[in-house]
Amino acid sequence: MNYSVNSDADDIHPGDFRCGTVAIIGRPNVGKSTLLNHILGLKLSITSRKAQTTRHRLLGIHTTEDTQFLFVDTPGFQQKHINALNKSLNKTVTQVLTEVDVVLFVIEPMHLGEADRKVLKLLPTKTPVILVVNKADLMGDKGNLLPLIQDFDLEFPFAAIVPVSAKKNLYLDELLSTIRGHLPVQNAIYGEDEITDRNEKFLAAEMIREKVFRFLGDEIPYSVAVEIEKFEQEGNLRRIHAAIIVDKDSQKPMLIGKKGEKLKQISTEARQDMEKLFDCKVWLETWVKVRGGWADDERALKSLGY
Ligand code: GDP
Ligand code: MG
Repeated sequence: MNYSVNSDADDIHPGDFRCGTVAIIGRPNVGKSTLLNHILGLKLSITSRKAQTTRHRLLGIHTTEDTQFLFVDTPGFQQKHINALNKSLNKTVTQVLTEVDVVLFVIEPMHLGEADRKVLKLLPTKTPVILVVNKADLMGDKGNLLPLIQDFDLEFPFAAIVPVSAKKNLYLDELLSTIRGHLPVQNAIYGEDEITDRNEKFLAAEMIREKVFRFLGDEIPYSVAVEIEKFEQEGNLRRIHAAIIVDKDSQKPMLIGKKGEKLKQISTEARQDMEKLFDCKVWLETWVKVRGGWADDERALKSLGY
């Protein structure tokens, strides 16, 4: 497959250290979180079959011998349900794009269409944009894809087009070296062991939220938030109290399950993930709270940090 590459990247001098910010955008389910996780080699951001599980701006750091990549994972675009929550998400995305050195616009070739075009319209013209064609492992008849991708190339002056498979770790090195070409020459900003600038409290909430999505399948809508009410460190122990906030009374028993089984499963698995990531013992207590209409209430959103 011949991908055109209109690279206007600077010449790469092997000795130069480069460091810069990279935004990952694209409609839900194209594989943005998977891409970030596999580059970081750690399950940091949330992946799920359900759309829109990454709600926050999340910075993942990947440091190599000559480059430090600072990744910003942005929420997907939701066109179906326009409420206060989604308005605040799209604002975040647009703002992030003007602040970064490179934008990765991720698409999946099997379902290329109108939803992607809507994202295309929001791309910045001053920041270099790399078109990442993910799920290359699923590409059947490659010949059929080429015209579609060429159409996209005509609609926007991409800095490069790179096919990858995030899930199968295919061509990720090629992608990283293409990104590197667009990053400024400067020293590393973070230590080489650091993987995120998010604190443990934030990560703890994200891990609980991931388990809620994982164990509830389609039973629970996207209006679930996690609030960490207590986060204490006692030696090698973290004592965490977390409230899972839902929108309606009827959602509470679904989350708790028969004899509390569901909530127990969510808590146990979230705790195990935390222990791995924080490298310590975790005492986790969770409960479910109903806060009616929270997804539509901008003030409630602010108080939850969105
Ligand atoms: P996001 O909404 O864009 O962050 O998408 P996710 O990273 O959550 O991925 C959505 C779904 O696509 C998940 O089921 C992933 O396992 C799957 N996925 C991601 N990358 C690939 C890939 O390269 N190949 C295949 N076959 N599936 C992928
Ligand atoms: Mg995601």
